[in-house]
Amino acid sequence: MKRYSAFAIAREALRHHTGWERAWRSPEPKDEYDVVIVGAGGHGLATAYYLAKNHGITNVAVLEKGWLGGGNTGRNTTIIRSNYLQDESAAIFELSRSLYEDLSQDLNYNIMFSPRGVMMLAQTEHELRAWKRTAHANRLAGIESKMVTPEQVKEIIPIIETAGPRYPVLGGLWQARGGTARHDAVAWGYARGASQRGVDIIQKCEVTGVDREGGRVTGVQTSKGAIKCKKLAIVVAGNSGVLAEMAGFRLPIESMALQALVSEPIKPVLDCVVMANTVHGYLSQSDKGELVIGGGSDAFNNYTQRGSFHHIEETVRALIETFPIISRLKQLRQWGGIVDMTGDRSPIIGKTPVEGVFINAGWGTGGFKAIPGSGWAMAELLADGAPRDLAAPFSLDRFAEGRMIDESVAAAVAH
Ligand SMILES: Cc1cc2nc3c(=O)[nH]c(=O)nc-3n(C[C@H](O)[C@H](O)[C@H](O)COP(=O)(O)OP(=O)(O)OC[C@H]3O[C@@H](n4cnc5c(N)ncnc54)[C@H](O)[C@@H]3O)c2cc1C
Repeated sequence: MKRYSAFAIAREALRHHTGWERAWRSPEPKDEYDVVIVGAGGHGLATAYYLAKNHGITNVAVLEKGWLGGGNTGRNTTIIRSNYLQDESAAIFELSRSLYEDLSQDLNYNIMFSPRGVMMLAQTEHELRAWKRTAHANRLAGIESKMVTPEQVKEIIPIIETAGPRYPVLGGLWQARGGTARHDAVAWGYARGASQRGVDIIQKCEVTGVDREGGRVTGVQTSKGAIKCKKLAIVVAGNSGVLAEMAGFRLPIESMALQALVSEPIKPVLDCVVMANTVHGYLSQSDKGELVIGGGSDAFNNYTQRGSFHHIEETVRALIETFPIISRLKQLRQWGGIVDMTGDRSPIIGKTPVEGVFINAGWGTGGFKAIPGSGWAMAELLADGAPRDLAAPFSLDRFAEGRMIDESVAAAVAH
């Protein structure tokens, strides 16, 4: 596959853009693969990419019931940060953040990583204490993040109202090297990289059953017929429980819709990401000028991938307390994705009760930032058949053993 470069753009400009190749192949599925990955979201595609790149395993298929990146990967608000509380989380999220830094070069695909800084506001004494604790934990873990005063918050975010009536800003946890990336490009870049290395990405191919023999996986049933495999990776975010049921085990996961919206485009007013967890909303400004606004998740389990009125009302009401400047903006569109929540708000990466079936799930409302690190760890798990250091703490049996990795405070609004 030809490399993208300034020279290639100039060459194609001269020949009316007739020489661009398709970014990834669309093959028919083979009868059998060494590894089948279900789900062509960022996590599934990154897993396939690192399997091929880091471990030389290329007899791999990624099966996707819709179109690649059409799940949560293409529906999130793209916040990237690594200032999580627990050491296990900090390790995988920091690896991820650092991989994002030169992912465009690695993939030869511009993922538009923008390390513009992430501010997590403290608007109650409790939150202030929690962020201070996180800042200390981060320092011990070697992660760059620090507490800032209300005056420094105002300097970084001029449009903020720090002396709000209900919840004045008492400080903030600032990660200058956090930021955003273009979500579709992350999926497309990994897909191109994986396909280039021989991975088959098969879209419009729904997995409808998992074949087993003697407690071991032998293949999957799909809308394009049966496909045999030696190892099966379930990487389907909000549908994890459904796939687990097909494979014959249960997961401690709840699926529910999480929503977001964007405003009409306006001139640049905000050059970092701000999360206001107490009032429950967060925003950043896209390159097009829209304010990208994240809301909450539904309070009940469901599989609807759409928005609802009461979330818009709640989210916008919350945010205009702290950002009165946005009160007269028009909303352009809203949407929802299905997120998979665990009790300790940490992911599951590991073996399952079925031999040969591995799971990567439970990233909940904050897994976009984790795509490179998660793919890296999942590829190690599939290659070795057992987790290495990065994934080991996130095994499924931690729920039976009571070995929780509690990120419910650090996750807060949860991105
Ligand atoms: C509104 C919203 C905002 C968010 N904001 C952030 C944020 O700012 N920062 C952050 O870090 N995270 C955020 N997240 C979370 C993040 O988007 C997810 O954690 C992450 O994208 C999960 O990626 P994935 O690859 O696991 O899942 P997905 O991208 O959902 O991919 C799973 C794929 O599996 C496919 N699939 C399902 N069932 C089957 C089947 N039977 N057969 C074949 N294929 C199947 C689906 O079609 C889907 O494409 C947000 C999520 C939402 C919804």
